[in-house]
Amino acid sequence: MTRFTKVTASIGPKCEDEHTLTKMINAGVNVCRLNFSHDTGDVQGTKIDLIRAVSNKLGKRVAIMVDIQGPKHRIGDFESDKHYPLKIGQKFILDSDDTPGNENRVQLPDADVMRSLNVGDRILLNDGKIELRVDAVFDDMVETTVMRGDEIWSRRGFNLPDTDVDTDILTSKDKADLEYAIKKNPDFVAVSFVQRAEDISNVRDFITERTASPIKIVAKIERPNAVKRIVDIANAADAVMIARGDLAVELPFEQVPAVSRRILRECRKLNKPVIMATQMLSSMVHAEFPTRAEISDVANAAYLCADSAMTSEETTIGDNPVRVIETMNKILSFADKDTIENPYDWSLMDNVPENDWSRSVSSMAFLNKASAIVVFARDTESVTQISCRRPDIPIIAVCNEDMIANQLCLSRGVLSVCDVSLFGQRDAFSAASLFGIRTGKLVIVDEEKISLRVLD
Ligand code: PEP
Repeated sequence: MTRFTKVTASIGPKCEDEHTLTKMINAGVNVCRLNFSHDTGDVQGTKIDLIRAVSNKLGKRVAIMVDIQGPKHRIGDFESDKHYPLKIGQKFILDSDDTPGNENRVQLPDADVMRSLNVGDRILLNDGKIELRVDAVFDDMVETTVMRGDEIWSRRGFNLPDTDVDTDILTSKDKADLEYAIKKNPDFVAVSFVQRAEDISNVRDFITERTASPIKIVAKIERPNAVKRIVDIANAADAVMIARGDLAVELPFEQVPAVSRRILRECRKLNKPVIMATQMLSSMVHAEFPTRAEISDVANAAYLCADSAMTSEETTIGDNPVRVIETMNKILSFADKDTIENPYDWSLMDNVPENDWSRSVSSMAFLNKASAIVVFARDTESVTQISCRRPDIPIIAVCNEDMIANQLCLSRGVLSVCDVSLFGQRDAFSAASLFGIRTGKLVIVDEEKISLRVLD
């Protein structure tokens, strides 16, 4: 195994045909992310079918992640398609009136937002290019001053970095999308604009009321209040995505690397896989080669021991999505190899109690110079926990359910197989040779019999 850090690829218009998906999966995609902000459930559903068909045809396992839009806030409409300049220092009103806006006012359609705003809160429009500061809040109107100006036009999205918005995590679009997506049995549902742990439990309730499938929930961390509550949110979720796009709008951008490191550290302690997301190879939307800074950013995701690096526009609307995956694969593979050959930052591993069983598995493998850890897994828990100790050898997960094997595609260093007979016979050597790992000792973890062995 040359790559431990997994590749999550966002799938969009430039890569949702069979030919491109085949090449991308062959080039190393482990998880396919479908962004429901850009399509309805039924359209995305056909893509899920195609990804499954391609993965089955190739005999290469990939997981499917449905990413729901969540409560993304937008202002109302302006007259015609006009753009209006907002100037620093001018007053601007947001109100509940649905008549078209002008240079002095526009509708704020979301009553929950109006109710949640406080004097002094910032409202960031157009990815932060416009900053409004709230001066006064009334029942059906908010008065603001423009602190940073730019052009504004209809239906622009906005961010509220200072506000705890009292709103349902699932909008009516999300509910309709999820109803549809659930029928397609995705492996993960990623939840956007999470603010608190209850948001995750609400989505989990929605899913479990509709299916018995153990779909995993990924909390997207893109708001400062989610960063503050990261431990509770990560505990409630099954995995976490560092959604650096919105995060860098809502936080001062220079804080995003520090926050990312903190999230990675906390999540490793809590045994939750983490995806590092957004603009990792952005220039490759058009360019043939990544920038030097992008190469370092992707490599650093591996050096910081993220479970996965994610592509966004570079695969969804980029000129050459296959080349993007090849590039990511190359950078991550080298960084992973380097981490194993030149370990230098073991402080990353230092936050786990010494008597933790998964730490013992990892040490046992290290001390016995094992070539792999084989886990007979009924669910993802033990495998994920061992993976979070970041052993420097592959973890082979022998599962008896496809969905569990799929979900483990996200976890660092894990090779998963669903094989009921290997699982029943506890046949670790066959599992290892399936992945081309034939020599050396194996550390065997048998969840069911609660046993741990080293086999020569
Ligand atoms: C992000 O904001 O970084 C992100 C991944 O979310 P989305 O692509 O849904 O905006």
